[in-house]
Amino acid sequence: MKIIETKNENATRELGRKLGEMVKKGTVLTLNGDLGVGKTVFTQGFAKGLGIEEPVNSPTFTIVQVYEEGRMPFYHFDVYRIGDIEEMEEIGYEDYFYGDGVCLIEWAELIREILPKQCVSITIEKDLEQGFDYRRITIEGEEYENISIG
Ligand code: ADP
Ligand code: MG
Repeated sequence: MKIIETKNENATRELGRKLGEMVKKGTVLTLNGDLGVGKTVFTQGFAKGLGIEEPVNSPTFTIVQVYEEGRMPFYHFDVYRIGDIEEMEEIGYEDYFYGDGVCLIEWAELIREILPKQCVSITIEKDLEQGFDYRRITIEGEEYENISIG
């Protein structure tokens, strides 16, 4: 486990970018944390680290957004609005989870029952006592715990 504290949006984006540069094919990352904590900010940095230049936002009306322009396919899930796990079956989630790209799943805790055994877990939390822009980011996944930001 690695804990990184950020004090602004750019630091969280930078951490995402570093992870995007390091990440290996076939990795599934789970990203959890309350609304407005910075999951999408982190994901935008992550996409940048993969070499994706087009803008990345939360996929609002689709569960998954596919980006092909980086060094490997990037499957960005946001399952916040999912009603039933059936919806994951309908989009054929296994092709993404067990494919040759990288998956990052915002709100992954909502689909816990279908997550692969080997995931890299990222949790972002606020602590208002530390200030409004403070975030505590916990990374669990041995290969990525040597990460740091400048
Ligand atoms: P989520 O996807 O988790 O709902 P967003 O990434 O869309 O959240 O929004 C995070 C918000 O928090 C942005 O408005 C961002 O500017 C703000 N913010 C403030 N401090 C931080 C920080 N340290 N890291 C990330 N975002 C931060
Ligand atoms: Mg979001």
